[in-house]
Amino acid sequence: MDSAAVERRTLAIGRELFEAVHQRHAHLSATDRWAGEVLRWCMDDPEIKRRVLRFVDVLPSVRSARACARLVREYFPSASQRLPAPLRLGAALARPGLVTAPAVAALVRILTERLARQFIAAADVGEVPQVVGRLAGRGMTCSLDVLGEQVLSEREADAYAGRYLRLVQELAAAYGALPGGDAPRSCGPRINLSVKPSALTPRFDPITPERSVDLAAARLLPVLEAAAGHGALVNLDMEHVELRGLTLELAKRMLVHPAFAGRRGELGIVLQAYLRDADPVLEALLSWLESHERALTIRLVKGAYWDYEVANARQRAWPVPVRERKAGTDAAFERLTARLLSAFPLVRTAIASHNIRSIAHAMAAAEALDVSPDAMEFQFLYGMGDPIAEAVRDRGYPVRVYAPIGELIPGMAYLVRRVLENTANESFLRQDLLRERDPDEMLAAPVETEPAAGSAPGAANEPCRDFSREDAREAMRAALSEVRGSLGKAYPLLIGRDEIELESALIVRNPARPEDVVGRVSQAGPSHVAQAVDEARRAQPAWERLPVPERAACLRRAAALMRRRRDALAAWEVLEVGKPWREADADVVEAIDYLEYYGLRMEELAAGRSLPQLPGERNLLRDEAAGVAAVIAPWNFPVAILTGMSSAALAAGNAVILKPAEQSSVTGALVARLLREAGVPPGVVQFVPGRGEDVGRALVEHPGVHQVLFTGSRAVGLSIIRTCAQVPAGQRHIKRVIAELGGKNAVIVDETADLDAVVPGVLASAFGYAGQKCSAASRLIAHRAVAERLVARLSEAMDRLVIGDPAEPEVDLGPLIDADARERLRRALRQAEEAGRIAYRYPEPRLPQSGYFVSPALAAGIPPDHPVAAEELFGPLLCVFEAASFGEALELANDSPYALTGGVYSRSPARIEQAIRAFDVGNLYINRPITGAIVGRQPFGGHRLSGLGTKAGGPDYLLQLLRQKTVSVNTSRHGMPLD
Ligand code: NAD
Repeated sequence: MDSAAVERRTLAIGRELFEAVHQRHAHLSATDRWAGEVLRWCMDDPEIKRRVLRFVDVLPSVRSARACARLVREYFPSASQRLPAPLRLGAALARPGLVTAPAVAALVRILTERLARQFIAAADVGEVPQVVGRLAGRGMTCSLDVLGEQVLSEREADAYAGRYLRLVQELAAAYGALPGGDAPRSCGPRINLSVKPSALTPRFDPITPERSVDLAAARLLPVLEAAAGHGALVNLDMEHVELRGLTLELAKRMLVHPAFAGRRGELGIVLQAYLRDADPVLEALLSWLESHERALTIRLVKGAYWDYEVANARQRAWPVPVRERKAGTDAAFERLTARLLSAFPLVRTAIASHNIRSIAHAMAAAEALDVSPDAMEFQFLYGMGDPIAEAVRDRGYPVRVYAPIGELIPGMAYLVRRVLENTANESFLRQDLLRERDPDEMLAAPVETEPAAGSAPGAANEPCRDFSREDAREAMRAALSEVRGSLGKAYPLLIGRDEIELESALIVRNPARPEDVVGRVSQAGPSHVAQAVDEARRAQPAWERLPVPERAACLRRAAALMRRRRDALAAWEVLEVGKPWREADADVVEAIDYLEYYGLRMEELAAGRSLPQLPGERNLLRDEAAGVAAVIAPWNFPVAILTGMSSAALAAGNAVILKPAEQSSVTGALVARLLREAGVPPGVVQFVPGRGEDVGRALVEHPGVHQVLFTGSRAVGLSIIRTCAQVPAGQRHIKRVIAELGGKNAVIVDETADLDAVVPGVLASAFGYAGQKCSAASRLIAHRAVAERLVARLSEAMDRLVIGDPAEPEVDLGPLIDADARERLRRALRQAEEAGRIAYRYPEPRLPQSGYFVSPALAAGIPPDHPVAAEELFGPLLCVFEAASFGEALELANDSPYALTGGVYSRSPARIEQAIRAFDVGNLYINRPITGAIVGRQPFGGHRLSGLGTKAGGPDYLLQLLRQKTVSVNTSRHGMPLD
């Protein structure tokens, strides 16, 4: 291809297209005047855009006129001068008590529907003939997409596939009924449907590619077969990058399936040019097609999830997968266009863009490559860029319109995406509509200025593993098999320089396979405690004297070691405490973050805080370590919490004696050794495992201990606080206690909440790690308008959970930690049954035979003060309550002795504000799961009976580990200041 010639031709075609388009319509975008007006407001002011999008997003869930009028007032306060006059007027007329309020509500709904109708072709599959007829009348075909709620259960996936089976019939009938002359031209099959792979199964999860593809394929095949019966094409849409590998695999699986043999080009997929690796991914696909002698239709798009991909990658500290400059994507689009066209007939190409330059380039490239106009097609989104589509059609190319069908509620996410796209600063349609740039400028060849590597990650935290990557999965599998080879070893006490192996050992077992002994950990007794405290007392002063940067460097070395061993440590957690992969990985990541974070914070503290200085007087504040710290940890975050408490105490210059929980003593031993390996002197970090009532108690009581850092249950925490209040003979200090205890955490769901977000959020919060997190949700308080539907969808979603040995990546829920825990939960379930009713219980026969598994359950109708509803259970039992109002829900949520975490799902700004003010918890989460606090970003910890102390992973945590000495020096002599 002669690129200079193609460029000349591109410009020529581009000018012609521009001319045709501008003659046709003054504006490229909205055909509906009202929709055009709204889009224009959004373009003019990002704040208005934010409000309009959020309002449009919540509106469909609002049932009453009163609630609608309230939301109008909340989103568009009439006092805000920034708002366009019609919005201000609407808000003023929506005031409570005014007779106009219901009329405003009705009008708002009508206008929002008009906005939706700009982009959504029809409300129901029954309207397919009209859509097909309308478009055919304009000489265009369509690809139909059924908008739906997020698929969260098998039933919902069945319903989705069912709608497609019906759609095939409707489409075939609609095209069959077209008068002969009306049949629009198309490239490949005229009948075309777009399917979202993630809607084919609620378990489309890249952590288990094989299984996910199996499940999706089972629902896709009948659709493909039905489509084949009518010579239709099924196109698999591309969603987030995490799902791309699965989608490609699904397409390949279908192409080689016997039912598909011999059919060419009847399956389609999408290539997103904004992905940095789009070129090599396409090359790999083309070679696969060639070697398997299969053909495919490929729709080339720029990509619709840019904002999501960037935010998601930044939050997880992953490399940003998309090109960050628009010109880079435009340039890639042209490169990929040429590559795809040159691959004809292996590939039929659909160019899906509204950018006249991209379209003109595709036509110029097709001419240069001698690809006939019938061997490719151009696609446009329904309601966008109609004049361009017509101009393209008039040049003799087939045009297809991607037309979504669906009700407003499920269509909202789609609508929001389209409004965002139409109003983005860099949108071609916007630039033309606002005449921001003239056509020549817009036709200039895109210059790729993309830096070779993606931008620096947004977060300073350690990135968690991306298990959609094969190498990450492979590393975890390898680590698990390596750790399995090291099971059953003995772990001695580490006291001073001695490694002490004792007869009496704690046998730690894998809770998923109790027959497997994870390790034998020597059990310390009171005499070992005394010995360890002596060693600590001797070693601590030198550690404290070390300059702070050296202590911090030591912690950073520990972080580096942990980073190197992260998969192995995560694998130990999987086998010792039954954590699923992602959760085990997250625990190790959190530990790495603590090591880095506290070192850095201590360096900042040591840089000094200044006190007022007056003539003749010098004042300073000196930080000193408390002394010897006992670190007593729970088993549920066996690496993170033990490391977190220890690293903070060490950063502050204390010596630490580690007492891990019995159930996680092996992981505890690994943490202790790692700290020593990083250079923490032996007397400064010691390991005295054993039973809480013996060793734990002895440590707490020992007069040589200055501080107890405890995380665990309320009962033990309170007993430690009581003990520490005693001052035994020989002890010349008051022991300080940091105690982080349990919770009975509530999630409130109001009637404006998006259930598509609530269900996965509650699932993660209540049943992640089988509910064995202090932050887990154990109470769900739903507004009665949504409670029934929420319980139904939640139950269905629970039913598709995979319960089993968490060494298998697909497992969502592992076992409880031990037989006692299982018995406690079984008892609680029985009590719940007596006090209320079980709304859903996972079928017992589907639980594994051995291991401490219980059925996750939803209990309803339990009196709020019943022990099951009020006390921490630490397992997968969620109590559901109904509330008549948001105020009542808040009251119920706050009616607890605990105050640890809490969540609110709502799209009402006023309610969110109210919750921020009045929901009395340590960590409040809005519209997201309530577990998974991140070091530095979400400092963690509760109050009331949930704990004592400042927040872990927060800027003030270290202060409670330091003693401060104020020094004031008189610098004057004979009344003369001499400083
Ligand atoms: P637990 O209280 O049974 O044990 C915690 C630790 O205390 C263990 O190391 C144990 O051996 C030790 N211990 C037990 N009796 C002792 C005694 N008399 N004297 C001194 N030490 C003693 O708790 P667990 O079952 O390991 O952990 C679950 C609990 O931890 C839950 O209540 C959970 O909410 C809480 N937790 C809180 C947080 C938080 O940050 N707030 C985090 C994780 C866990």
